[in-house]
Amino acid sequence: MSREFFWQMDRRDFLKLCGGVAAALGLSEVSVPKIAEVLAASAAKPPVIWLELGSCTGDSCSFLNADSPTAAEVILNQLSVRYHEAIMAAQGTLAEKAIEDTIKNEAGKYVVVVEGVVPTKKGYGMIGGKEMQDILKEVSANALVVIALGTCSAYGGIPGGDPNPGEVKPVMDLIDRNKVINLPGCPAHPMWLLSTVTHLLMFGMPKLDSQRRPVAIYGQTIHDNCPRRSAFDEGRYVEQFGQAEVDRDYCLIKKGCKGPITYSNCPQQRWNSGKNWCIGAGAPCIGCVDPKFPDAMSPFYDRLPDIGIPGVAGLRTDADTVGAVVGAATAIGIAAHAVGAAAKGKLGRADEAEKKSGKASRA
Ligand code: SF4
Ligand code: SF4
Repeated sequence: MSREFFWQMDRRDFLKLCGGVAAALGLSEVSVPKIAEVLAASAAKPPVIWLELGSCTGDSCSFLNADSPTAAEVILNQLSVRYHEAIMAAQGTLAEKAIEDTIKNEAGKYVVVVEGVVPTKKGYGMIGGKEMQDILKEVSANALVVIALGTCSAYGGIPGGDPNPGEVKPVMDLIDRNKVINLPGCPAHPMWLLSTVTHLLMFGMPKLDSQRRPVAIYGQTIHDNCPRRSAFDEGRYVEQFGQAEVDRDYCLIKKGCKGPITYSNCPQQRWNSGKNWCIGAGAPCIGCVDPKFPDAMSPFYDRLPDIGIPGVAGLRTDADTVGAVVGAATAIGIAAHAVGAAAKGKLGRADEAEKKSGKASRA
């Protein structure tokens, strides 16, 4: 990037963006000048190979769609993207050479971003005559870090749902797991990538949970921070889509909202440059960031079992500690009900389906 790039941008917008990065990283406003410095530093240009494997290109679209000043602009100027099938001009052997040169000349320094699942059944996913899983292994071997962007590459997502004919797997099941950062989402939010890359540049690897998600982004349930939470606690629920209650911010739990068992900062981050998000638009969260999405979150519009008692307001847990809470089997309130649902209901059904089809659990 260029320092010039940022100073051509409106300064207020740039600092606002840096404030957004700080918020996504869980840092205070005090860190904004440092973030601005890092983002504007011309030296901070790690090479990137962006692989598009078994995907719909949704994460690239999400990344490229935001309006100005976009996270995409910042990332494309902050990083040196050497290979991205959807947006690069080079084709064929020239494109292949860009990958080979980066692997050879930037060993241990480059970042790999992977979009999409990795088919492991022979012939189900090939690029230039090579199996996708071989490309992933070859490109990741010398990488500094591998970012699995989107639920497909992080956990299998929709292609990994039953019956999974291509025997697709998530990235972390095929390469050194310790190199992987998962940024699930269907699609992932551009700010999740920008804040993670910024963290890598400033401090190195972010704190990850057991599913290798950054805790700063995926550490709390959507329900914990939902603007409709007071309606949930007070028993005001949307009974039918299209009702005036949707616009009055009534809770969507009866219309299938999976916010109580879904971990991400969507309520604070919001989408389309912070304009709105699923629940804000009156649509229940379908848990698109979850490791067991979509099977364990289906049917999308059915109410979660066991989530019926208005919970303990302010109870905050992350995805790892919540398991311990339920293990103790003493906690009451939404966190316990959420995990109870996961353990006894939805996830149970998914595990059963996996057993029947002879497949191992994906998460
Ligand atoms: S159930 Fe969904 S809509 Fe209701 S408060 Fe929780 S996250 Fe918000
Ligand atoms: S609110 Fe739920 S469905 Fe919407 S983007 Fe966030 S995790 Fe996905």
